[in-house]
Amino acid sequence: MRTRSFLCVGLLAGVYGQFLASCSPARHAESRDTRQGVYSNRAPLQPAALYPLPLTSIQPRGWLKRQLRIQAEGLSGHLDEIWSDVGPNSAWLGGTGEAWERGPYFLDGLVPLAYLSDDAKLKAKTKRWVDWTLNHQGEDGSIGPLQNQDWWPRMIMLKALTQYQEASGDPRVIPFMRRYFAFQSRELPKRPLQSWGRYRWQDEAVSAIWLYNRIGDPDVLSLIKLLHEQGYNWKQEFDHFEYTEKTDRSVLNGKGGELPEKAMQTHGVNNAMALKASPVWFLVSGLSGDRAAVYQQIRDLDQYHGIPNGMFSADEHIAGTDPSQGIELCAVVESMFSYEQIEAALGDPLFGDRLEKVAFNALPGTFSKDMWAHQYDQQPNQIACTRRQRRWSTNGPDSNLYGLTPEFGCCTANMHQGWPKLVASLWMNTPDGGLAAVAYAPSEVDARVGAGVQVRVSEDTEYPFRSSIHLEVNPASPVSFPLKLRIPAWAENATIAINGVSATDVSSGTYKVIERTWSKGDRVEIDFPMHPRVSHWEKHSVAIERGPLVYSLQIGENWTKLQDNAQAPDWEVTPTTPWNYGLVLNPANPAAAIKVSESAMNAYPFSEEGSPVELVVRARRVPEWQAVDGSAGPLPESPVRSSSSLEEITLIPYGAAKLRITAFPLIVQESSSLNSRESQPDRK
Ligand SMILES: [Zn+2]
Repeated sequence: MRTRSFLCVGLLAGVYGQFLASCSPARHAESRDTRQGVYSNRAPLQPAALYPLPLTSIQPRGWLKRQLRIQAEGLSGHLDEIWSDVGPNSAWLGGTGEAWERGPYFLDGLVPLAYLSDDAKLKAKTKRWVDWTLNHQGEDGSIGPLQNQDWWPRMIMLKALTQYQEASGDPRVIPFMRRYFAFQSRELPKRPLQSWGRYRWQDEAVSAIWLYNRIGDPDVLSLIKLLHEQGYNWKQEFDHFEYTEKTDRSVLNGKGGELPEKAMQTHGVNNAMALKASPVWFLVSGLSGDRAAVYQQIRDLDQYHGIPNGMFSADEHIAGTDPSQGIELCAVVESMFSYEQIEAALGDPLFGDRLEKVAFNALPGTFSKDMWAHQYDQQPNQIACTRRQRRWSTNGPDSNLYGLTPEFGCCTANMHQGWPKLVASLWMNTPDGGLAAVAYAPSEVDARVGAGVQVRVSEDTEYPFRSSIHLEVNPASPVSFPLKLRIPAWAENATIAINGVSATDVSSGTYKVIERTWSKGDRVEIDFPMHPRVSHWEKHSVAIERGPLVYSLQIGENWTKLQDNAQAPDWEVTPTTPWNYGLVLNPANPAAAIKVSESAMNAYPFSEEGSPVELVVRARRVPEWQAVDGSAGPLPESPVRSSSSLEEITLIPYGAAKLRITAFPLIVQESSSLNSRESQPDRK
């Protein structure tokens, strides 16, 4: 039997000494060239399809680098200065303040943001949290503030620490985690998982697998089994999915202030985290049913709660398919983290497609362009963000305001992980010594490939706004390795050329594997044709998609300060232009009716005025479709008749439109009126 190596590629290369040097405390410098160890799954774990590269192996470039700068200069880089829950009195810094999940949530995003934006000030901020935690481990191995003994916030802190260890090489982290897991293994039988921790056990399993691959301690595997045993059985929920309707407030009625089990099972963020439960557990169990379970889970969520921004609705419990229902920001960033983990475990490009859809639509769509304000709940059909009780399942009147802590502060603490973890997951290692492009965005990756040769791949692109991607491969010396390129399911007739020679057999919804000897300066040109296409939603409505982007009606936005929190005010956004349009197009051939216009990339591509792509499409107003309780009312069943005049309307990327219609009624096309009027649309 093959012994699983401590380091999968470095050992093979005869660079063992060099690698050990890179791991030793003496090499604690923050150079990204010295730490490129990728740890494959040790037996008896199942091999994963892909292995994440250590944090800082991938650097953002172009618009993505700029996006991380916007984030660092926005709320993420300043939150501790203005919000006491993660301020200097946090119990996670030794104070008497917040002692639960908010400090760890903040750190889980701040660590990758600090290191991927190479920001000394932010690194110094992360160090305060890390040092307090590492320096205050109990004699018994316990960690975290004594005021709060809940297992759940410690699960988040472990995620933050694994990233910090990869970026810094800090030698304290691994023994710290080992002592904590030993402590938890002794304690859990006496004090089992409950509440949030019981429903989120899989997030600790990710960190425990990370540690097991580094130290090979079988006790860590036993702990993962105990977490699974005490944790909620998500697979069973989706084997017989009962929550097929919008949740109502009665779900909250429990005893003694604890949420009832039904409320935990329908909770949006729990469900987002749980997407990874079966794939992660499959790595331990090896059972085909665990491997397959996520597909049923996604089918159920899509069928009963799917909305056109890549998410399911949950505001804050799962809420049906009406596109005026919302989805919480925590669920958006946790879905992204889940898809990153699922793609690594299973290697199905479908999950890369999902990751991009959420990352490039739902994520930017719920932040102000400068990332100083965010929403709790965003709506695909979002006609006004105002203080008003909307038809949420259980949330309150502030839920769709843009602000510091609209509705509740969890998203304020947890939102920071979205962009940085996407950067860290764009590229992964393949078990056969290659590299896989899991998601696309401008970046540069440094890794060891083949028998341990250093390679840098530069990715030059304005994807997802443009269809072309240019890779330049620069190995230290010529080296044979497989380059696996995800071909999105929507990318029909995709083309790939290597040094000008076209590749054959490029199929959408697969990984195209290019195995050859790569030399310095080799170029790969990729094109994913982005023809506008239609997706179908509630009441036979349609959404327009192009590439990984979803497009929404551009609605004039009036931003009004609701409350002046000095640096981070809360905002209401109200519409200045009409929204109740239906589209005039043939869903079988939408491209024929849509004009695409591209403009130069802007400093804020996810803003109404800065969108680098616009679509123009014909539409008619649908007078009977009116606002109800501050949201777009129930969609009329499509196709819809309308005698309103034909207009041209502009669609912009969902992420750029902070007010928007995304799911549109489809207008009945009557051939006579169409022929006479189509050639001369009335201008708005
Ligand atoms: Zn939240």
